[in-house]
Amino acid sequence: MRTPIIAGNWKLHMNPEQTTEFVNAVKNHLPESSKVEAVIAAPALDVDALRKAAAGSNLHTSAENCYFEAEGAFTGENSPLVLKEMGINYCIIGHSERRGYFHETDEDINKKAKALLEHGVTPIICCGESLETREANKQEEWVVSQIKAALEGLTAEQVSSLVIAYEPIWAIGTGKTASSDQAEEMCKTIRETVKDLYDEATSDNIRIQYGGSVKPANVKELMAKPNIDGGLVGGASLDPESFLALVNYQ
Ligand code: PGA
Repeated sequence: MRTPIIAGNWKLHMNPEQTTEFVNAVKNHLPESSKVEAVIAAPALDVDALRKAAAGSNLHTSAENCYFEAEGAFTGENSPLVLKEMGINYCIIGHSERRGYFHETDEDINKKAKALLEHGVTPIICCGESLETREANKQEEWVVSQIKAALEGLTAEQVSSLVIAYEPIWAIGTGKTASSDQAEEMCKTIRETVKDLYDEATSDNIRIQYGGSVKPANVKELMAKPNIDGGLVGGASLDPESFLALVNYQ
């Protein structure tokens, strides 16, 4: 059985002091990791404070982005190797804000997935269509092509371990959640794509999150869907009480 995974994506919010305060407020109220994995993805400058404050607790840690090289002349980038050395568990890659504002391509995201897996950090690979694509009813082919590109060259074992987040762009930060049926439909399509590319065991193992205006009021309904294994949550993850309501949805 897949362990549910609820991850807060802080985006560019919080400083190290606020990070420590947040973690201290939540760390004794988190679910057992075997029941629900609670994760915070913090901005790069807060990751050190996050891992220090979270040490010894049930809070799992994540970065929001990294580069696909471990070291070298790449001014301003963040190393997957150093994430591993710091004990960071996850790294979000391919978020639509990265693809949109920072021009990341499917190929970049595939390289980042490979680099993270090579260094032992679990990628949370984001995919999702724009409103325009949905209105043209091309969302399935769009997302399937993002998934195929992101997983290119990965082994079944690697794919089994990773997390995919389906985040329709029109539902991010808009208060407009995809209906639980729309979310389930696409998460099912993603799982079937993994089955086609690999095998049933791999598609049974991979965890698929839904993201886009997830909040305490809708998390239960989303999590009840058979192909939705978790949530990637922006706005509603910034407040300790709201984060705790999300991770303790059961
Ligand atoms: P939101 O963001 O929950 O604020 O819609 C989700 C995300 O972008 O990961």
